Amino acid sequence: MPGTVVMKFGGTSVADASRLKRAAERIVAKREAGQHVVVVLSARGKETDRLIADAQEISSHPDPREMDMLLSTGERVSCALCAMAINDLGHRAISLTGSQAGIVTDTSHTKARILEVRADRIRAALDEDSIVLVAGFQGVSTAKDVTTLGRGGSDTTAVALAAAIGADECEIYTDVPGVFSADPRIVPDARKLDVVSFDEMLEMAASGAGVLQLRSVEYARNHGVRIHCRSSFDDAAGTFVVSEDEAKDKDMMENPLITAVTHSRGEARVTLIGLPDTPGVAGRVTTALADANVNIDMIIQNEPRTAGALAELSFTVPRDDVDAARVALQPIAAELGITLETDASMGKVSIVGAGMKSHPGVAAKVFSVLGAQEINIEMISTSPIRISCVVPAEKVEEAVKALHTAFDLSGADTIRPEQPFGEFAS
Ligand code: ASP
Ligand code: MG
Repeated sequence: MPGTVVMKFGGTSVADASRLKRAAERIVAKREAGQHVVVVLSARGKETDRLIADAQEISSHPDPREMDMLLSTGERVSCALCAMAINDLGHRAISLTGSQAGIVTDTSHTKARILEVRADRIRAALDEDSIVLVAGFQGVSTAKDVTTLGRGGSDTTAVALAAAIGADECEIYTDVPGVFSADPRIVPDARKLDVVSFDEMLEMAASGAGVLQLRSVEYARNHGVRIHCRSSFDDAAGTFVVSEDEAKDKDMMENPLITAVTHSRGEARVTLIGLPDTPGVAGRVTTALADANVNIDMIIQNEPRTAGALAELSFTVPRDDVDAARVALQPIAAELGITLETDASMGKVSIVGAGMKSHPGVAAKVFSVLGAQEINIEMISTSPIRISCVVPAEKVEEAVKALHTAFDLSGADTIRPEQPFGEFAS
């Protein structure tokens, strides 16, 4: 529906009564400006963490189906309260659970994927001039059970609804002014980015930028939903996440060589020593991990130089999954005589930027900068628009600062692709 906007408010933006009322005023102002409004809300403040803690107090292995019944309540509370606030401002509002809103997911509890959005109830309510509030982060499975979409999943609810109703834009209201060139807690003069392409945002979300859930960016790219990520505390424009074509057409893109430095501290490295150098071994190792639902990030295998010698394989997994990885690999390790080593104190820094696609020398610069800081690079992986280095977790901050400075990301003077690199030019 043209003239419709989706507004999503995060947990801090609805944390207490006065913030929730402020959000309600913003929603009403948008309606009074003539737009149809669908609102997606997160659970208030740290409510989801509290609910998880409640479950853990009861059971060390809570049933995932019951977890979803529990966790989905936080978002429902936010929506019901916000509907009351909107009513008091003289507007019609209706709150809906994910299920009532027609969000159909697969059956994988606590990390379900949206399969389909049947938005007729939302459309009917909009036609009757109601503001529609949808509980984020949840849906109903094909087996008719309540599901949740993984931490941060309300972003994905918002994008999926925007796609389903053909909204002009999906606004994500949050507690920061937008997407930054680095985490401002580490780099105080990090720059707010005006525009980021879907591809860049995907790489950023996947490499540690916490501002948007990775799946929401995937969904937005696949369905062409433009996202405006902005502060819920003021009216300033935030960051637009759009297709590269739209950015180019509208001349929005600043085209810097590097857009952002991202990081994560929660990485673990698993090393398998003494792998037989025969076909099929890597497949067995990774299948065992996939079956245990462990997501592998970087992988390195070094091929033995002499025939018949043993190979070594290293990969990284989220630190929380390192025990699951160990358990999953134990049988193969025992069978093939492989030694398993883990190091759970790893971090990762990445630089992301569409400009590096066509420009040589970026990797050389990254590695030289880290070398000059005496930071040892443990593993490396790249995509056409990203370079990531695994480094010791305690070196992450220093690495982020050094790279942000070296690529001049703070002020307006970002390096343009047409400019040479100086001493790092290749
Ligand atoms: N409340 C959920 C969480 O804290 C979902 C969300 O806020 O997006 O992860
Ligand atoms: Mg979030």
